[in-house]
Amino acid sequence: MIDSGFDDIFAELIDEQQPRQTFLEALAAMVPGGGMLLVAADGRRQREGSSFELNDAEESWLRAVAEGREWGPGAPPLKLGPNSSSPNTNSPTTLPAIPVGRRLGTGWLYPLAVEELGAVLFWWLPGEHDLGREPTAAALLRHAISYALREEERRETQARDEQYLRQIEVLKRQHGELIEDNYRQYRINQEREQEYARNLESEIARQTAELREANARLEESSRLKSEFLANMSHELRTPMNAIIGFSELLADTSLSAEQDEFCRTIRQAASSLLTLINDILDLAKIEAGKLDLELVPSDLDELLAGVRAIFSLVTKEKGILLRVERDPRLPTRLRADGHRLRQVLVNLLGNAVKFTDQGGVELLVELVGPEDRGQESPVRLRFAVRDSGIGIPASRLDAVFEKFTQADGSTTRRFGGTGLGLAICRQLVELMGGNILVESREGVGSTFSFEIELAAVSEEAEAAIPAKEIPPGPASPAAACRVLLVEDNPVNQRLATLMLSKQGCETVVAGDGLEALERLREQSFDLLFMDVQMPRMDGMAATRRIREIEGDPAARSEYAALAHRLTPIPIVGLTAHARKEDEDACYAAGMNAFLSKPIARAKMIEILSQITAAL
Ligand code: ADP
Repeated sequence: MIDSGFDDIFAELIDEQQPRQTFLEALAAMVPGGGMLLVAADGRRQREGSSFELNDAEESWLRAVAEGREWGPGAPPLKLGPNSSSPNTNSPTTLPAIPVGRRLGTGWLYPLAVEELGAVLFWWLPGEHDLGREPTAAALLRHAISYALREEERRETQARDEQYLRQIEVLKRQHGELIEDNYRQYRINQEREQEYARNLESEIARQTAELREANARLEESSRLKSEFLANMSHELRTPMNAIIGFSELLADTSLSAEQDEFCRTIRQAASSLLTLINDILDLAKIEAGKLDLELVPSDLDELLAGVRAIFSLVTKEKGILLRVERDPRLPTRLRADGHRLRQVLVNLLGNAVKFTDQGGVELLVELVGPEDRGQESPVRLRFAVRDSGIGIPASRLDAVFEKFTQADGSTTRRFGGTGLGLAICRQLVELMGGNILVESREGVGSTFSFEIELAAVSEEAEAAIPAKEIPPGPASPAAACRVLLVEDNPVNQRLATLMLSKQGCETVVAGDGLEALERLREQSFDLLFMDVQMPRMDGMAATRRIREIEGDPAARSEYAALAHRLTPIPIVGLTAHARKEDEDACYAAGMNAFLSKPIARAKMIEILSQITAAL
């Protein structure tokens, strides 16, 4: 189409009776920003697109062109008139030359002869162009079209860019909001964290203070508990002392059969009560971490014989067998807390005997290892107490070790007991480094066992053990001796006096330490029984004072009981406090022996025998 005559285009348009207006609009639309001015031969003008202003010189040039006076050389004469009379219809298809374009404002103005319309079209194109001095219409059109395309492209690009920019803006806004939201959330979280940290710190400080306070309260209450236990022990043992002591003395008097039975019942009840008191105190001591094992050279055979002796009578009475056996490979002398080990075995055997009516009970001590060992090296022993008694239901096996728990609620009524024995056994065995186990079948029997390690005692170590202050003499009946009994409680005074007089002793009583010193000043004595807790001057102070006097010849000469002695006067401490530290305190004050209340008659006789043997 470009190559066809320019007039053909217009001819087509004219043929289709296109009005000029439409034609110009279409043409203007081709080049956005461009402007059209159609000037007919008769001078009529029609504008379309961007308008452009002409000054006078330009206006006169435009008129000259429209009138055909300005066309370049060689150009066919411009013949404006109605298209029907066009002589160019059959002419070769070269487009007419265009007279020189003119620079106009920010663009160029080109005139195009449209002979079909008998007019000149002044086409103003924006921007810079270099179409040569006399461009052809085809060049102009091509240029216009490429300009239009470029423009179109530019607009599209611009639209796209704008679209992108808008999208970017939207995204930015969205992201910005997101970032802002995140940041806000971050700040909130940070503040919360800081707040939390602040609260946490003060909370920790508060809780620590509370814990400290609770701890202090606990320590205080634990101290009070220990103190309470010590006092309770004293308060309970003093009357027990009287009950047991007097019922023993009563049993020695001539009684009717009925009175004798009453007396035995009182003694049995008192002895059960004493066991219970001791159990409760033991458990309390273990739980307060106050029970320390005393590992001293002990004789295994002696221990087992003692345990056997306790149960030989009762098993005989029940008609059941009692067997106590030990592995012959075991050493006899072991470093152990004999008192506590005995307590565990007596407890286990006591239960076994209590719950067995047929068959028998046995205590077996085995060597677990090692067989070849050096002196003083530890030996592993297994203690097992087996019975053919009523057994324990499987569901109650664990519970029997709990405090105050029995396998069956009815047991208490049928068999008695408090449910403390096994709890104490377990704690003691754990203290010895072992674990107590139970196997049992109802109606068949039970086995309680535990393993512990004990060091064998070498002969050298045995030889190095210091001799006791009071040499263990044969337990002969106490020779009559003069005793000063220092005791404030009238019931205990009476009881001890009776017990001593039964042993043939002559007893003088002093109510406290000061009174005791007075008596010592006045008359001589062979030994003193000294209560610890007393008003005015207690037993510890009195003992220390006596030892002081003994060390000072001038002072000693004033005391009839001390003046002529070659050795310190024996002093036996009496106290209801059964703790080891109380015993130690007695020795530290200068006492020679120690008896805990209630005074066991046998123990008293033993001590009397030892002291009188040494007189
Ligand atoms: P107690 O014997 O004073 O009740 P223990 O703690 O010694 O308390 O024992 C707890 C319970 O375990 C007993 O009441 C009994 O039910 C059960 N028990 C313990 N030893 C045996 C045993 N050898 N045979 C059967 N039952 C036993």
